[in-house]
Amino acid sequence: DPKPSTLSVLPQNYEKPARKIIELKHSWSRDVAKALHQVFKMSEFRPKQLEAIDETLAGKDVFVLMPTGGGKSLCYQLPAIIQNGKTRGVTVVISPLLALMQDQVNHLVEWGIPAMAVTGDLNASQRNFAFEELSTREPRLRLLYVTPEMLSKSDKMREVIDSLYNRKLLARFVVDEAHCVSQWGHDFRPDYVLIGNYKRQYPGIPFMALTATANKRVQVDIMANLHIKGCLTLSSSFNRPNLFYSVRKKGADPISEIFSIIDARYSGKCGIIYCRSKANCEKVADELQLKYNIKAAYYHAGLAKEDRRRIQTDWQNGKVQVIVATIAFGMGIDKPDVRFVIHFTFPDSIESYYQETGRAGRDGLPSTCVLFYNYKEKKTFVKFIQEGDGSKVHKDMLLENLERVIQFCENTNDCRRKLVLSYFGENFNSNLCHKNCDNCLGRENKVFSDVDYSEVSIKIIKMARSIICSGRKVTMLQIVDLIKGSKAKKVQQSGDMSHEYFGCGKDLKKDDVIKLLRLLVNKKVLSEQTESNFRRVLVSYLILGPNSTKVENGFMKISIRLSNTKPKQLPITASSGNLNAPQSISRDKTNSNTKYIESNHSNENISVNGGS
Ligand code: ADP
Ligand code: MG
Ligand code: ZN
Repeated sequence: DPKPSTLSVLPQNYEKPARKIIELKHSWSRDVAKALHQVFKMSEFRPKQLEAIDETLAGKDVFVLMPTGGGKSLCYQLPAIIQNGKTRGVTVVISPLLALMQDQVNHLVEWGIPAMAVTGDLNASQRNFAFEELSTREPRLRLLYVTPEMLSKSDKMREVIDSLYNRKLLARFVVDEAHCVSQWGHDFRPDYVLIGNYKRQYPGIPFMALTATANKRVQVDIMANLHIKGCLTLSSSFNRPNLFYSVRKKGADPISEIFSIIDARYSGKCGIIYCRSKANCEKVADELQLKYNIKAAYYHAGLAKEDRRRIQTDWQNGKVQVIVATIAFGMGIDKPDVRFVIHFTFPDSIESYYQETGRAGRDGLPSTCVLFYNYKEKKTFVKFIQEGDGSKVHKDMLLENLERVIQFCENTNDCRRKLVLSYFGENFNSNLCHKNCDNCLGRENKVFSDVDYSEVSIKIIKMARSIICSGRKVTMLQIVDLIKGSKAKKVQQSGDMSHEYFGCGKDLKKDDVIKLLRLLVNKKVLSEQTESNFRRVLVSYLILGPNSTKVENGFMKISIRLSNTKPKQLPITASSGNLNAPQSISRDKTNSNTKYIESNHSNENISVNGGS
């Protein structure tokens, strides 16, 4: 049973192709349209597919950037069956994963397209069959899939390709999952780098490189390594319209919350839970299994290779429902029906967040991504980064990535899609989110006003400075007490009650003071220094950050976005058209109700205005 077209199930906001398919621009246009309908049985192109096909059929190099599930394969599978004067013969597809290759070959054969994967797994006679076919005068084979290792290690393979080239039967090289070429990518493969040599070795043969990485640095690296700098780059939106993004405060019992998510909407459906430590993986999996009777298994680098392979297969076949994994899991997973991706702890960068959540909903059906966020966990990661190997520059980069994730989590106002995509330089119009993220969904019931908190911030800076200058250390929670003007015994003992700014924020809610302090850290007005105390517990102390004087001198304004929950507004109804409405409604209802009971003037969000 071939995969159903996912286009019909994609929500309305899925970008429609910009042009009609039968626009007979080129000598091959009619054949291309025919192939789309009659061979691939698809009704229209998705954005950029036709552009990519036209470019390669014109004999030029092209770089294709599309999100996972965007339809990259068609960009080279379709031109492979179009034979024209410039590019005829066999398309060589270099792909890193045997499973993906075999899957594609099966589809192609179903469509009636001669294709083969030549891998180390084939026995000698199977391999010879392929080589013989390729040596015939007019090979019927249209697509030859190979691993980069096969290309670099098999002399016979190179001989066959040389011969195709000499006989003008080598149509193009396709480098799928091209981020494997870059050391900055998440699954670097040394043999991929050698592919760059083919550009020189086989002059005139067009290259097509494809990847779902949204990282600019990796993109530049790919073009350089493959020697295709300056070629046409086609990039479609990295928005994944069918994913619902949300961030939740990690409460006392996140595992029971995870169970509720699964139980309410995804009972029996597959999902991934990402943890940062092996111990957490085991704990979460065990508890889901023992307490909640969910078929969960853990997966981390501490397991033997066979165990990992078995668990992955069990999950892929649906024998295991939920996999609880460290980031070691995920490379090249091509499971289309992952319904939820949960981050038990925050990811290490926005890029990782995008990649990890991106494993959900590859089939285009509604799927959910929940990130459990706890600011207090930050210090563990800071410590981990600081004690790791690598240069200072590298560590600073990791710390910066972490700060961005925190900023993302703390933001309860802006569209999550807009935030994520903006890290990749994409200017996403948040109206196209269609309430498919927690912030857009929640916005209905809120009215916002920006309030300037610069004055309080200046007092906080001065208070922090005088404490630090007196040679003492102060934690965030201690300074919260001072800002609030707490009369607690420990505060009285500290002697800070006599400070002129003691109680400078006594009218603010404690939560809001904490948010303000986190914003100040995020904006480098304050900094946190993490140390082990005498009981070997990690503690973060506040110090002044490089931007503190900018705030004091009035060059940088600090403003917080206050939201008032509109009192009489009812929660959004199921007819709002939101893909994940039922789950979101129940969550939203509880949230807005509790907020309303506590206060109808709750601070919801922090944003900063101004800069240097
Ligand atoms: P990617 O490699 O970019 O992750 P794939 O090439 O595997 O994505 O395509 C994802 C799914 O989209 C596949 O099921 C494919 O058949 C389908 N698809 C691709 N292009 C189209 C199209 N123009 N119309 C309908 N379905 C398409
Ligand atoms: Mg692909
Ligand atoms: Zn949104």
